[in-house]
Amino acid sequence: MASADRIRGPRIQGPRASSASIEPVRQAPICPLCGYCETSHAFSDNGCSLTTCSICGLFFVHPYPDRISQHARVSAGASAQIEILDCERRYMGERLYYERHLSKIIEECQGAKSLLDVGCGTGYLLEALSSLPGFYTAGIELNAQAAQCARRASGRPIYEVPFEKFRSDRKFDVITLINVLSHVPSFDGMFHSVRSLLRPGGKVILRTSEMGRNVSRWNQVHWGIPDDIHFLGLETLDFLCAKYGFAVTRHDRAPFEDELFLRSRWEQLGRSKLHNLVKAAGIHIPLALPILKKLYAAILGQRLFVSFIVLTPLDSRGSQANRGEHKSNTSVLKERH
Ligand SMILES: [Zn+2]
Repeated sequence: MASADRIRGPRIQGPRASSASIEPVRQAPICPLCGYCETSHAFSDNGCSLTTCSICGLFFVHPYPDRISQHARVSAGASAQIEILDCERRYMGERLYYERHLSKIIEECQGAKSLLDVGCGTGYLLEALSSLPGFYTAGIELNAQAAQCARRASGRPIYEVPFEKFRSDRKFDVITLINVLSHVPSFDGMFHSVRSLLRPGGKVILRTSEMGRNVSRWNQVHWGIPDDIHFLGLETLDFLCAKYGFAVTRHDRAPFEDELFLRSRWEQLGRSKLHNLVKAAGIHIPLALPILKKLYAAILGQRLFVSFIVLTPLDSRGSQANRGEHKSNTSVLKERH
């Protein structure tokens, strides 16, 4: 693996308070992926600042949470964006979601015999895949209530352990992280786990958002920050693959507006009664969704994307076999283009 120090820039801190001052020390934003501090403020939402890195393109919340506090937040489901008061409603939401996306996942699972679903929620994906003959599946879910639902729904083992700490003698052909990447508080830890759990020749399936530098705070009503702690920029995937030694074998990047105004998405109810009323209006007023989509595309289109991404470790393709390290960022990027 490329040494983190080789691609990490100087850690520059903000002005320190004098010994006589009681002002707290405030660090300048440091990118949690590349370690550089060449950053700029993107926008704020929910009282949180979102910062973008000029080196790798990552958008991240500042201040960036440590692993323990982020896992505690996800486990407790304590914040408005991920609170799990009603597992049944969340399960129905997952069902509607996977009605749109399951076919791509099954397509990528052809020939696979095992799958680990990281952040499996209430277990709809595991349940849906359980009908595949001879296919072993397991899940990881930090929220105890959702994990219990997932066990009931899928009948599969569900581990309540942070992915970065999860270890198993079993290797998996496929690891799925569906709408999970933005919650995991350590890229190093996440990709270390992927490498330790993935069978040679296996693949990682990600579904996550990507966004251009011109993204607007109004591309989404709620950004989910600080539960979502980072988002990929349009060039961040290349940086990730180069740093951790993966190749992209599939990258379906769709404008967010293509998904935002799908009827099935508006049928996914949330916790807010107001938002649910708006959704009901959007569904029942004729032509409301197509008109809203046109307006959105004209004002905010092509800035935020939802992406279906498949990665394979470079060394499983023979190019880096048995070397124990990955190519440098630059050489891998040259190879891919
Ligand atoms: Zn960066």
